[in-house]
This record gives sequence, structure tokens and C-alpha cells, in this order.
Amino acid sequence: NIRVYCRIRPAFDAEVKTVVDFIGEDGSLVVIDPLKPWKDGRKIFDFNRVFGSSATQEDVFRDTKPLVRSVMDGYNVCIFAYGQTGSGKTYTMSGPGGDSTKKFGINQLALNALFLLSDERKDIMSYKIHVQMVKIYNEQIRDLLADDPLLTKLEIRSYMNGNGLPLPDASVHPVNCARDVIHLMKLGDVNRAVGSIAMNNRSSHSHSEATVLTVHVYGEDTSGNIIHSCLHLVDLAGSE
Ligand code: ADP
Repeated sequence: NIRVYCRIRPAFDAEVKTVVDFIGEDGSLVVIDPLKPWKDGRKIFDFNRVFGSSATQEDVFRDTKPLVRSVMDGYNVCIFAYGQTGSGKTYTMSGPGGDSTKKFGINQLALNALFLLSDERKDIMSYKIHVQMVKIYNEQIRDLLADDPLLTKLEIRSYMNGNGLPLPDASVHPVNCARDVIHLMKLGDVNRAVGSIAMNNRSSHSHSEATVLTVHVYGEDTSGNIIHSCLHLVDLAGSE
């Protein structure tokens, strides 16, 4: 079950401002290439939904929120941002920085919703939540939360093996609230930046690497039924 949303970021001063011609309630989008003749210059796209440049982080999150409920019900969910460098992936997923909820990214908003739901259900369901955070660069996976993130190169395994995790060797950290996860994400970001500097290639790296934060949810209800699901939050490498 895949849904594709399109978000248009506000144009920078140097950019042509009139490329978006029409945004439909039904997810249709018409863009214009002003350098081409009328007919060839118009392209029509169809998404599940289109968010215009004035959409807030909360507007974008509203459509994402039901997915958090799915994770807590035992379904696997992956939310990722795709687009070329500068299109607003990090802004959408991690937010512009700062501590007000207006500045939260989808990551933080989703985690807040997840822990809120865990709290609401505490009489009927007991949840244990763990996170892993890795980066993928040049097809190599590194653990951003390991004691030595540069040394640890990880292998992907099938779900059938070992501890049942696709990245069994990536460190797993227990978390009790959204703040715990955000603290780990900040640590992961620092490790990522340090790694890129150590490889002497900071600017070209950050555009060609992806970060994956995986939230593992284990739940047990009062009659002993167990669920295990994951929420993957991904800031992909630039699509160029
Ligand atoms: P990417 O991660 O896709 O390379 P960024 O998230 O870094 O792109 O966004 C590029 C620039 O545009 C940043 O300066 C960011 O603050 C700004 N930006 C992106 N999306 C928005 C938005 N919705 N509103 C305001 N500024 C935005």
C-alpha cells in the first residue's frame, strides 16, 4: 500500500516563481516550463495529494499521522523523502531546527504521536520501543549510534536469521519518550558529520548518503498477544 505525496517548497529569490500552474484537491499538479512552447511546456502529474508552498509541517504531518497508528497496531511502515538536492527533504523530515513544534519535522512529529499513543493505550497494551540509526553511502551501511561509527560496516541479513532484525549488528537503543529518540538522532547526526569530515569529502557526501532511523515497536496486550513492527524514517540521498 503506497501513497505518494508531493510537497512544493517556496521558491528561492533566484528561481522562476510561476512554474506551478495548478494544484488540484485530488492530487493533480500542473507545472510549466517557461522556456518551452505552451503545449510542450505543460506537464501534468498525479499524486495522492499535493501540498503547496504555504503548507506547514503540521499540514504535511496530518496525512502521515494515521500511519503511526498502523505501526502501533503491528504493521510495518516506511516514510521517506525523495527528491533532488535542495528540494526540501531534510526540511520536511527533520525540520528547520529549533524546539517549537512548528519547527518539528515529520520524524519528530511521528515519534511524538507514537509515544502519545503508547501512553493512551497503556492499560490494554504494553509497548517496548527501540531504535537503530544507520547511514547508507556507496552501498555501505554504517551504524550512526555505535561507539565507533566509522569502523562498523554492517551487513544486511534476511529476517529469518539471528535476532530477527535485517541489520542485526547495528546497535539497538531502548527509548522511553520522543525526547530520547531525538537525543539519539542528534548524536547520529554528529557522527554522520564527523564521518564525512574524516573522509575529507563533506559537501559531496551529504548529498549522496541516506539516513535511516528505524523504530522497533514490540507490544503485548493483556491477553498475551504480541506484535512486532517497525517504522522506518528515511531521508534519502539526492535523486540526481
Ligand atoms: P534537501 O534535503 O532536499 O537537499 P533541504 O531540506 O536542505 O533540501 O532544503 C533546501 C533549502 O530550502 C534549505 O535552506 C531549507 O531550509 C529550504 N526549505 C526547504 N523546504 C522548505 C519549506 N517548505 N519552507 C521553507 N524553506 C524550505
